[in-house]
Amino acid sequence: MDLFLEQFEPRDEAWFIEEEVKDDQKRKLYEALFTLSNTYVGMRGINEDMPARTTPGTFIAGAFDKSECVAVEMVNFPNPMALYMVLDGQKIDLDHHAASHRRRLDLKRAALFRETVFVKDGQETRFRSVRFVCAHNRNIAIAVTEITPLNWSGELTLVTELDGSVHNAFANWFPDEWLRHLSLVSINDNYDHDTVMVVKTRERGHHYCLATSFDLPGETVARRKKIYGERVVEQVTLQVRQGAPVNVLKFISFEDTRHVPENELVKAATNALNRAKLRGLDQLWAAHQHKWAENWAVADIKITTQNNSQELNAKVRFNLYHLIMHGSETDYWHGIGIKGFTGEMYRGHYFWDTEMYMFPFFLYTNPVVARNLLVFRHSILARAKQNARERGFRGLVFCWECDELGNEGINHEMNRETGVMRRRETIDQYHLNLAVMNALFRYYEATGDFEFMVNYGADLIVENMRFWDSFLVWNEEKKAFDAIQVMGPDEYHANINNNYYTNYLLKVIAQKTVAFFDWCAAHNQNAHYKISGRLSVTAAEVAKWREISEKIYLMAPQDGVLEQFEGYFKLEDYTFTKRNEFGVPVVVELEPMKDPSHPDFTPDFVSYHEALVRMANRMRMIKQADTLMLFYVVPFDFPPEVVKATFYFYEARTLHYSSLSPAICAISAARLNDHDLAGRYFDLSLNMDLQDVKKESENALHTPTSGEVYSIIVQGYAGVFPQGDWLVVDPHLPAEWKSVAFNYRWQGVTLS
Ligand code: BGC
Repeated sequence: MDLFLEQFEPRDEAWFIEEEVKDDQKRKLYEALFTLSNTYVGMRGINEDMPARTTPGTFIAGAFDKSECVAVEMVNFPNPMALYMVLDGQKIDLDHHAASHRRRLDLKRAALFRETVFVKDGQETRFRSVRFVCAHNRNIAIAVTEITPLNWSGELTLVTELDGSVHNAFANWFPDEWLRHLSLVSINDNYDHDTVMVVKTRERGHHYCLATSFDLPGETVARRKKIYGERVVEQVTLQVRQGAPVNVLKFISFEDTRHVPENELVKAATNALNRAKLRGLDQLWAAHQHKWAENWAVADIKITTQNNSQELNAKVRFNLYHLIMHGSETDYWHGIGIKGFTGEMYRGHYFWDTEMYMFPFFLYTNPVVARNLLVFRHSILARAKQNARERGFRGLVFCWECDELGNEGINHEMNRETGVMRRRETIDQYHLNLAVMNALFRYYEATGDFEFMVNYGADLIVENMRFWDSFLVWNEEKKAFDAIQVMGPDEYHANINNNYYTNYLLKVIAQKTVAFFDWCAAHNQNAHYKISGRLSVTAAEVAKWREISEKIYLMAPQDGVLEQFEGYFKLEDYTFTKRNEFGVPVVVELEPMKDPSHPDFTPDFVSYHEALVRMANRMRMIKQADTLMLFYVVPFDFPPEVVKATFYFYEARTLHYSSLSPAICAISAARLNDHDLAGRYFDLSLNMDLQDVKKESENALHTPTSGEVYSIIVQGYAGVFPQGDWLVVDPHLPAEWKSVAFNYRWQGVTLS
């Protein structure tokens, strides 16, 4: 029996994703898809032999740095994964020597399995590996490799590296820019087999330690370790026999000075490494599997379809997997970047995506993660208050794309043609505040965690209302409060007034804030006294919030359609006439800019995008779901005829340029029983990365879209959604689905 395959190869089709054979055009895509993480450390699924175009990514939660970069970004750490064979002095890799190659991402056990057969001058060698980032031990990652000479015996050299010469190669706007965020502090050079590297972030000044060990059983002919600047290369030569596998074990440990004091760093990392070695692979693998079994026991969704599709289940699980591995049960001093650990794109910043799109999954499967995310927002409260002050307001304004300290990741952007920096209008998306408050009240509703509300939540809801109080402008003519100069979720229309989504959600949040104070005053005077005292909340202030909730300006629907913002209906109309192979609308007027044979062709993505925004700006064309967000956030608030009219109106005018958008349409379409449309948008979201819909997933995945896949199924199709203290269950399943099964954590119990 083949133990390696028996133990490690995933075989249940409903639980793995397979890489297409040797397609080097998709190499980077699979690196991103095959990311492994334990919520503390994350690693892109690179091939160990580092073939061409390999883009290593090793990330640590909350590890940001700025250095000379225009914006703070998530740091790419030393790459510990390289491990390759050398035969007759030649490096063996996928580009030049692969006879066969396949990899499988094991979703159930969060491990990456590989089997490649290399051929060099007739010498066939099988290379199998499995790697995992220990779910039960944040410090440890393990790579197991089995190498078998299939038709030869002789000398084999194995090389492994710990490469500290890494840099961030920001993939978003300036692909050619290299940035160093780390400086080397030390590498042990005392002939110890284990390698210990300490690096320091250049601007933040945090220290990080990576320790690795490389163990081979049996006799080695020669073993040596060389340090080339910031790269440690270890080379082992062995005598191997035809058909006899050689097993190689690599342990990696990670530690940082935000968890341990600086003078304990190396000790902590090496202790973790040594403890892992003592426990051994079998125990660690068992414990890792156990933790993932626990994760799935609550988080799994199982769908049975007429044609018994296992592929659908695997795809859904793939999306859930990417959420699970990013949600920390223990740490509350960082958020979840919109790309998770799958790549550097968007610099790892935290957006509203976390609370609006990923949060429901955590809330209803593992509320402690949801709580940590909210406590993180609380931990950056001071920065959010400073941000509000700097903009001339009171209360708090969360920075639109922030780092672990709550700083605005990027306030300005450069016009590439003129080189001039300009202010980014996207930072006027004050609806981010409301996304956080909405998550907070949903958390309270689902868990009844009053202690959280008193000690953390109250600070946030009070400062949020103080912001709006200082921001809104009383309009005597309308006898209402205006929210002027804002941006809604649709980023193609800047500097607008009274974005319906923002105003309506503010109304809801203001009502909930006032209701919370009213409840405390009536039922828990201690809490009321504590909160009001700590935050100096007066009765007059609460009365003002009540007034805001009653008098925030909301335009009346026209022919049942809610107007996205004041004046939107006066814009030139625009509906899409063409869709691409995924069903995503195409802007036909701008197609020549993408056609190399046309005089208007521009290879520059930024120019295309600017032309698109200029065009959309004067029209009713919108980037992403905006008003429709309301049917996702407060699905019971609008009469059915308004939902229907508004949905079809905007669906025809939404470009879905953001990956966040299709799912919002899927949810509404499912509720409207428009299953063709719902199915199309569900497929788009489900396959956003698996089929690389936006042709950018190789840089990093769209992790929030995975959160939406959860919501389409649970909220859209199964129709499970809270209404106050009640849970509404009103399924609208697609005709080909026979059943869908999942758990739902609600007020302390797990419902199935
Ligand atoms: C979207 C935002 C989103 C951001 C990150 C932008 O393209 O318009 O809504 O927060 O991407 O996903």
